[in-house]
Amino acid sequence: MTMTKDLRGECQQCGCPFNFPAESTGLTADCPHCGQPTELLLALPPETKSPVNTKTIIYTVLIILILGGGFLGAVLALKRAERLTARQREATMKAAAQNPPPPADPFAQAGFNVSPVTIEKTQGDSLVHATGKIRNLTNRQRFGVRVEIELLDAAGNKVGDAKDYQAALEPAGEWQFRALVVDKRVVTAKVVAIKEAQ
Ligand SMILES: [Zn+2]
Repeated sequence: MTMTKDLRGECQQCGCPFNFPAESTGLTADCPHCGQPTELLLALPPETKSPVNTKTIIYTVLIILILGGGFLGAVLALKRAERLTARQREATMKAAAQNPPPPADPFAQAGFNVSPVTIEKTQGDSLVHATGKIRNLTNRQRFGVRVEIELLDAAGNKVGDAKDYQAALEPAGEWQFRALVVDKRVVTAKVVAIKEAQ
């Protein structure tokens, strides 16, 4: 008994499926359903059948259109986001320009340590002084050291300057400065510069 493999074919006239022996492939036979002659060929895979194919194409086009629309929308949203980000960056930069980050301690870089400034009112006297300590962080003597102090009122507005001078500051030495303040509105003060004779 010869084992023949049956293949699944499809009538080219009526489209009905039928089985045929593998060795008959390519021959012409009458369709068992419609009786018309049809070539014995393997049925095409369903996805290449034209009705499905057309549907697939339509759906693909629809999907592309939808995705395309979505993509366009995404591009527009992205552009909008970029503009927004640019605007925010600009705003941040403006804010940064108005409030620059504090620079690295310039006094420490120059080898000085500065204490906070105290506004000292001498009792029984109308004199006001801005006092604080400046330490020489280096192991060399510093000459002609000048401290410049900014004077601020209760609202934090600058109302004046004060200065003090020390002819020499020993290596690792400390100087208690005492700058005369004329303006009576002064509430707080801060050291803004320390200069020394070169
Ligand atoms: Zn047929």
